[in-house]
Amino acid sequence: MTPARGLGTMVAVCALVAGVAIPAYAATQTPAANAEASTWDEASSESQAFSSSGDLASADLTSTSYSARTADEISQIDAERKALVRAKEQQAQQEEAAAAQQAQQQAAPAQGSPAAAPQEAPAAAAAPAEPAPAAPAANGSWINPLGGAGYYISRSVGSGHEGSDMVTTSQADYTVPIYAAKAGTVITSGEVVGGWGNTIAIDHGDGTTTLYGHMSPGSRQVEVGATVTQGQMIGYVGSTGRSTAHHLHIELRINGAIVDPVGNLPI
Ligand SMILES: [Zn+2]
Repeated sequence: MTPARGLGTMVAVCALVAGVAIPAYAATQTPAANAEASTWDEASSESQAFSSSGDLASADLTSTSYSARTADEISQIDAERKALVRAKEQQAQQEEAAAAQQAQQQAAPAQGSPAAAPQEAPAAAAAPAEPAPAAPAANGSWINPLGGAGYYISRSVGSGHEGSDMVTTSQADYTVPIYAAKAGTVITSGEVVGGWGNTIAIDHGDGTTTLYGHMSPGSRQVEVGATVTQGQMIGYVGSTGRSTAHHLHIELRINGAIVDPVGNLPI
């Protein structure tokens, strides 16, 4: 290639370049001013999207601006979000607990009745336990013919003595009542019955009989043939007949045989 031809080629290239470039500049009156204005316009327009840190701090630090949230705000929001999650978890747990409690309440009748039954059973057993003295009484149990009066046993069956002597603390007529040890029918009732003095005997209808001697004069409450209930007052302790002190001479027979009242009656 010759130098002249090489220069021509360079000119042509430059002309091509200028031909492309010059129309762009031709659109503006002053390429230099236009270039400055263009630069300014670009900076001005881009400032809306690319603000400086100073603009962010002064104009956009609001809680509603996502781009303005600081690290503290983000951590605060994150804490609030976690708190909300915890609240939902707690609510779920409360609902679950409530559901479980409701389930227990619904199941309570089924579980409660067997559980309450053992509890009521002792109570029911205890309740009859109190009237028990009356219930066994009808079945054959005995009561103390002197009730709660004070006494002591001075003598019992043996050596020709066919009963037990219950010496009362009170030694006055008509002060200590005598009660039928068990329900039955009066088979003996007299003011003078052998050495027993004023005496009553009762057939209890179950093969047993009881006899009450030395009662106070005229204190008998029932006559032969009368039906008595257990605990019914039939007279008063006295010292009639062959007696030296106020006491109840009580005899017990089972199928006609003498039995010691002590150990067989609650005396
Ligand atoms: Zn006696």
